Amino acid sequence: MKTEFSLTQLADPDIAEADKILRACVHCGFCTATCPTYVLLGDELDSPRGRIYLIKEMLEKDRPPTKEVVKHIDRCLSCLACMTTCPSGVNYMHLVDQARVRIERDYKRPMTERLLRAALALVLPRPALFRASMILARLGRPLVAVLPPPRQASASPTLLRRIRAMLTLAPSRLPAPGPAGGSVFPAIGEKRGRVALLQGCAQQVLAPRINQAAINLLTRHGIEVVLVKDEQCCGALTHHLGRDDDALARARANVTAWLAEAERGGLDAILVTTSGCGTVIKDYGFMLREEADFAALAAKVSALAKDITEYVSGIRLEPPQQQHGDIVVAYHAACSLQHGQKITQAPKELLSKNGFVVKDVPESHLCCGSAGTYNILQPDIANKLRDRKVANIAMVKPDMIAAGNIGCMVQIAGGTSVPVVHTIELLDWATGGPRPGLN
Ligand code: SF4
Ligand code: SF4
Repeated sequence: MKTEFSLTQLADPDIAEADKILRACVHCGFCTATCPTYVLLGDELDSPRGRIYLIKEMLEKDRPPTKEVVKHIDRCLSCLACMTTCPSGVNYMHLVDQARVRIERDYKRPMTERLLRAALALVLPRPALFRASMILARLGRPLVAVLPPPRQASASPTLLRRIRAMLTLAPSRLPAPGPAGGSVFPAIGEKRGRVALLQGCAQQVLAPRINQAAINLLTRHGIEVVLVKDEQCCGALTHHLGRDDDALARARANVTAWLAEAERGGLDAILVTTSGCGTVIKDYGFMLREEADFAALAAKVSALAKDITEYVSGIRLEPPQQQHGDIVVAYHAACSLQHGQKITQAPKELLSKNGFVVKDVPESHLCCGSAGTYNILQPDIANKLRDRKVANIAMVKPDMIAAGNIGCMVQIAGGTSVPVVHTIELLDWATGGPRPGLN
């Protein structure tokens, strides 16, 4: 694609990066077929190619985003299916990230939306606040009956429908908090490695059992696990809201905390059980590339970051302790894992090797609609995608659904009675751990 940035514009490293990305696009449109919003809405401006044009216009003309541009960028899930499909290697992720920052900086949203976004950015990365908000949401749950129900996917989301979506997503009960930052879980038997395990923010409130399963499995296989004390939210949630000052501050803080831990006790890897977070941590090297004090350190952290299944694939697991031959597991490929990190086979191979009958879900490339805060901010599209995902999962008649991202787990569980568990919970169970606490 031809671009027309001025030399002055190109002196800005972000614009230079956008220029490189835009020039790689050859307008072929292959990406439209796998874009969930194009599949649902059929509007070119809700396709990757359409959004690329909108972003190009906005950046080239260096003018504030229009309401129309914001509408179509906001509808993008950042699922990155387009990056998997694109034959030209267009890095849509870095382009849309930049567009979101520009929108956040230059576009004045309606007051209610600004307040909602500010509240999400404040609450979600802070586990104590998030826990309190979940308790409040549970109390407010009866309001769901009187709030307006979801509408067709093309409808403009309203505050009331967004509040309804938030209340609907809140769990009916919260588990006890998991172990605190600073905890160390020694290897059982001969020590073969030492890793940090990202504590996550929403996940540690909604499902501490996931990291507990990872700790159980790792320590049982000779890996010491540390929960790094000064670690923060990875920044993914605010990054996707276009609030990069917040996201970058968190990235710097985490780089400092993890490398200090590596210095103290050594770290073979920084493990992540929430693939949405893993995708962003693996991108820290890019996000901090222009900062002399942090660029090299952030790249080092990104290289250490691994999805839990990526790491577990590299260790020799105990032979299966349980007979699971009759348990059919539908494997839901989280977008951040399959498109963001290109991890497609490892989770399924691990589950199969450990005795589960693993089934691929039809249309597995399509997002479930969770996408960070998307199911709150765009509830109508998110609901349609969830219903489509759940219908596809039902076609393989599973006993359980396995996924590697808490956001997907909550989203899918909202539409099915089939238990939804994390892949690591099944692997822990298969290799001698407890049966997963289902849902
Ligand atoms: S990230 Fe997903 S929703 Fe956004 S343009 Fe690409 S395929 Fe479509
Ligand atoms: S598939 Fe890639 S090159 Fe083709 S239109 Fe989409 S982004 Fe551009």
